[in-house]
Amino acid sequence: MSLRLSHRTYRRPLRPPLRTAHGLWTERGGLLLRTEREDGRIGWGEVAPLPWFGTETLAEAVEVVAKLGDEVDEEVLARVPARFGCVRFGLAMAMEPDRVATVPDGRLPVAALLPAGREVLAELPVKLAAGYLAFKWKVGVGRAEEELPLLDDILAQLPAYAKLRLDANGAWTLRDAARWLERCAERPVEFVEQPVRAADALLGLAQDYPVTLALDESVAGLAAAREWQARGWRGVFVMKPALAGPLPELVAWAQETKPDLVFSSAIESALARAQILRTVFAGKLTHRPLGFGVGGIFGDAAWDGPATGPLIDAGWCDRVNPEALWNDAS
Ligand code: MG
Repeated sequence: MSLRLSHRTYRRPLRPPLRTAHGLWTERGGLLLRTEREDGRIGWGEVAPLPWFGTETLAEAVEVVAKLGDEVDEEVLARVPARFGCVRFGLAMAMEPDRVATVPDGRLPVAALLPAGREVLAELPVKLAAGYLAFKWKVGVGRAEEELPLLDDILAQLPAYAKLRLDANGAWTLRDAARWLERCAERPVEFVEQPVRAADALLGLAQDYPVTLALDESVAGLAAAREWQARGWRGVFVMKPALAGPLPELVAWAQETKPDLVFSSAIESALARAQILRTVFAGKLTHRPLGFGVGGIFGDAAWDGPATGPLIDAGWCDRVNPEALWNDAS
């Protein structure tokens, strides 16, 4: 069955901008997709590229979507090349509006995102007071000599039930990584995300240190995750579903191979986030806190969705209104 497809672009400033090892990120640009069936049912999708993660750029995504034409069907989706994972994610979503019609009740903890550098020490008590149980600290932004001593200051503030994960975004040198992992080995760190970029170095570090390591930048697409599995990766896979192609393919892979999964945001809007979380709630695919602690990053209720705290309940997904975002896009 073919559907009528339309699209709109959006640009939203990030408040505050995100400091990562990739630099300062000030604005999220993306595409919203809308499909309409003959019976009038509407489907929604979002294309939210992250080029420094190896995805297509927004300009490329716009070009690909414009070329799809006004009518789309499964064959059109199948013809979008695999490297356009963000377009394929959004299009697959827009074409299957009722894939997860009802979400089972449930709540999942969300990891609060902590700022890089010394700012972390001011932010952590605020997040603890808000009731967060899991935290992710961005490292590899400043020099290791400055950041490493902060680890014990953070751990001293954390109650025993709390989980701390570190994310280096692949920025450490092998020497930095060795220093950090030695330090983490004796401390309660949930995992260290993407300590370095090079595959051989990652495999070596995983063998040399008892710390759980997680792949993030290395597994932007599902094909890459499969390759790492084939190479014997035993650690965590951080998957950003908005970058990874059609969600049903990701779910099928997770159900077949049972990877140790963390689902994470690509700073997509509430529209795609709600779609992803519906699937996560329905599939029981992870036991780890969600990497969706992005809060009110757009500073706008429609684009952020209803305010969330340390736990997201399944009902949140139903309170996001795609039409409000569509009307707000150009
Ligand atoms: Mg990461």
